[in-house]
Amino acid sequence: MPTSPATPSTPSTPSPAAPTPVPTSTVTLTGWGRIAPTTAELATPASGQEAAGLLRLTAGRGTPVIARGLGRSYNNAAQSAGGVVVSTARLNRIRSLDPETGIADCEAGVSLEQLMVAGLPHGWFAPVSPGTRQVTIGGAIAADVHGKNHHVAGSFARHVSSFDLLLPGGEPVTVTQEDDPGLFWATAGGMGLTGLITRATVRLKRVESALVAVDTVKTADIDETMAVLAEHDKKYGYTVAWSDVLATGGSLGRSVVTSGDFARSADLPPRRRANPFAFDPRSRVGAPPAFPPGLMNRYSIRLANEAWYRKAPRLREGELQTISQFFHPLDGIRNWNRVYGPGGFRQYQYVLPFGAEAAVRRSFELVAGHPAPSFVTVLKRFGQGDPGLLSFPIAGWTLALDFPARTPGLGPFLDRLDRLVVDHGGRVYLAKDSRASAATLEQMYPRLPDFRKLRAELDPRGTLASDLSRRLGL
Ligand SMILES: Cc1cc2nc3c(=O)[nH]c(=O)nc-3n(C[C@H](O)[C@H](O)[C@H](O)COP(=O)(O)OP(=O)(O)OC[C@H]3O[C@@H](n4cnc5c(N)ncnc54)[C@H](O)[C@@H]3O)c2cc1C
Repeated sequence: MPTSPATPSTPSTPSPAAPTPVPTSTVTLTGWGRIAPTTAELATPASGQEAAGLLRLTAGRGTPVIARGLGRSYNNAAQSAGGVVVSTARLNRIRSLDPETGIADCEAGVSLEQLMVAGLPHGWFAPVSPGTRQVTIGGAIAADVHGKNHHVAGSFARHVSSFDLLLPGGEPVTVTQEDDPGLFWATAGGMGLTGLITRATVRLKRVESALVAVDTVKTADIDETMAVLAEHDKKYGYTVAWSDVLATGGSLGRSVVTSGDFARSADLPPRRRANPFAFDPRSRVGAPPAFPPGLMNRYSIRLANEAWYRKAPRLREGELQTISQFFHPLDGIRNWNRVYGPGGFRQYQYVLPFGAEAAVRRSFELVAGHPAPSFVTVLKRFGQGDPGLLSFPIAGWTLALDFPARTPGLGPFLDRLDRLVVDHGGRVYLAKDSRASAATLEQMYPRLPDFRKLRAELDPRGTLASDLSRRLGL
């Protein structure tokens, strides 16, 4: 890839010192779903100061700019066609981690995996972990990510005491919930559109081991699935259902519900007690570089779902699982997203408020009856949402679905799901969205006008822009 300096001829934003040019290279980027590639200049500053200089320069020449962490958002939130994408790959130092308090002071490009590796030997774990630990602190704040413990822990930003943010013109500010709740909660869930986070302080979660004591229940249908999830929310810190979304009739919504909590040291087998925090983050296998198109189709996915559902026990209690098994099973296969073939895939995740159970059931009927097969289907209950203007979680039911992108009729089908979601007061997740319209999004996020207002004040020239923000007018 050719490189070119990101140096404008005359920056209009006053700068305290001449910024050092950060080299850039021309790259074509996608999100994890491998759809909608666009080309931009990629810059990888080595420090907050370098990043500030870069932002001053790009703001000065009116080039759109957006941050990028590990690119695990599914579509195009971390890319900006024709603009500059600022990777935090080199802002990856844990500045301090207090073994007594579990307070970690990290640069924004630190991954949750790094935090786990550093924190577990002292008994500290990520307060919230999505289904992959290959996400950065910056990406976790910007999408205000949630995990299997949302019903008790809320989403990621709740555990962040402060962060350093470079505003669109490169000015650094330190933001806390107390001092500037407006900017804090616009940035949490704000998909990188308020500035570039360079550092954050995160409060980790105390654990007694690196193993999770897991109870598994196989359910017969959607009613039982929802009942078990509701009951397990009261008993466990972590819970989720993997659903066989192709099952129909009396088996509609049958699932395997796994729930658990970190094992106490006293519950560990004797051979683990000497080393309760052992954690091996390495991926076990790599996906082949190419999969044939069409490998993931309605028939292969039905077989896989069926086999996996049958294999699960009707009831199993107290099984000790590793962090990788319980939280991040997909991280066990490097580049597993290639399995969908060259066409890539779309994730669709909604949340519907409690009280809209009939709509949740209806969504299962729609998916089961449509030739669009979902390979990974996860149902869970959220607790109270946080004040993030664009934070996704609200108290209710969230369903995540994966579809091969080339599935015929997928667009109109997802539009139908959108209508169901809007009609029942729900919303889709921006970190995964690839096709909602701006008008639909306005109906889903009632605080979007507040977000736009803040953006207009903060970034009147619209410097911060991603392919996602342009499509949705964020
Ligand atoms: C297998 C898998 C499972 C997942 N499971 C879950 C889940 O359970 N729950 C969940 O909530 N999400 C889940 N996700 C989505 C993922 O957690 C989010 O998309 C997360 O934001 C990705 O972090 P990242 O570092 O890769 O950020 P990127 O994908 O690179 O960027 C995501 C957004 O964050 C912004 N951003 C990144 N860094 C910064 C920064 N330093 N400053 C400002 N903005 C920044 C970008 O501009 C972009 O808008 C999953 C993704 C995968 C691939």
